[in-house]
Amino acid sequence: MEIQFYKNMGGRCENCGRSIKHVYVVEDDGFWFKCGSECIRNYLNITEAAKKYILKQIKEAQQYLDKKMKLEKLLEVNDIDAIRDFIRDRRDEETVIREAYDWLMVYEVRAKTIMEKLNKKINDSGIRIREIYKKSKEEIV
Ligand SMILES: [Zn+2]
Repeated sequence: MEIQFYKNMGGRCENCGRSIKHVYVVEDDGFWFKCGSECIRNYLNITEAAKKYILKQIKEAQQYLDKKMKLEKLLEVNDIDAIRDFIRDRRDEETVIREAYDWLMVYEVRAKTIMEKLNKKINDSGIRIREIYKKSKEEIV
């Protein structure tokens, strides 16, 4: 099973139908669905504590993606002072810009690493999508 997280993707929760900003895509044996953070527990065979853990990890990944997005925006408008503040690097402009692009990569890798660890834990603990949801979807198709 695997959970993917898409920041600001937008869409509709397949469980409750509400519109959602951040989307969780969950895949299990070729069966997949998307939902919001409110409904993720309904689909998975997990406790409230496990849900909290999953959301906490995803939030951490999200924070790195936030940083990446903010820095990207600063690079776009070439706001060198703000970039300096953001990465706390006071060197010359060329070095700071080069360093900023390295940070974009670092943020992305950190977010990815968190999600990989989370998915490994989910698989180790044997969490699966509830059978009733797999069956109800098969019937619709
Ligand atoms: Zn929902």
